[in-house]
Amino acid sequence: MPDAWQIDLVDEIKRASEPQEGQTIAVWFSCGAASAVAAKLAVKRWGNLCNVRVVNTPVLEEDPDNRRFLADVQDWLGVQIEQAVNPRFPHNSARAVWEKRRFMSGPRGAPCTLELKKQARQHWENANPCDWHVLGFTADEQRHHARFTLTERPNVLPVLIDAGLTKAACFGVLKNEGIVLPAIYRRGYPNANCIGCVKATSPTYWNHVRRVDPGVFADRAEQSRRIGCRLVEYRGERIFLDELPPDAMGRPLKSYDHECGLFCEEKEMA
Ligand code: SF4
Repeated sequence: MPDAWQIDLVDEIKRASEPQEGQTIAVWFSCGAASAVAAKLAVKRWGNLCNVRVVNTPVLEEDPDNRRFLADVQDWLGVQIEQAVNPRFPHNSARAVWEKRRFMSGPRGAPCTLELKKQARQHWENANPCDWHVLGFTADEQRHHARFTLTERPNVLPVLIDAGLTKAACFGVLKNEGIVLPAIYRRGYPNANCIGCVKATSPTYWNHVRRVDPGVFADRAEQSRRIGCRLVEYRGERIFLDELPPDAMGRPLKSYDHECGLFCEEKEMA
């Protein structure tokens, strides 16, 4: 966790460096509420000065309603939302990644993040050099943003933090604009990531998937058993999903209130 002086340093760097005319800003839109509002603020603030490009890295295992949300946000922004895709996985299927890698998730991360998020992003960036990035760091994630700019990328524009918008406030902005949130939020999930995200280890999360999306739970249970990946942590040990008691509880769903990483773990998983 960064100290106060590190946050001050980040603020200083931020003040000293603002986007200049003609530069390119990539806004990474995850189909979540925060990055939708971040995109709107970026377009409003720099749309006339810079080349603001809004980019999404789709994953087949996300809720299909994420695509409807993307189309609604695209209309709201008035900017075409581009797709970044890893050519090695042109169908953007996390299942296909797990099958090919014979691995689903572990303490160092998940191969689906690496292939479908980070490498898709890198592929896009290689063809489209950009000067700045916008991610959905909210006002309640200021420390996370500070750590990120110090350890990963210094050129991330904190538009939601500057505007003082929390994640809850972003939901409010979309509601006021008449944009219906992705259906996955209404089904009780804390983010718009894939249904049955393999980075989750909590029994609470997996029993929520079992209750709300039983077909996905059965599919993850089958594939992870076959591949030999113990996805869930129960009573201090990793077990297979098909061993999880249906009433088991663990960390709250809110602890998965983060988006599938586009940048972090790059060094470990590459
Ligand atoms: S949301 Fe989870 S399952 Fe989907 S790509 Fe990211 S880490 Fe993998």
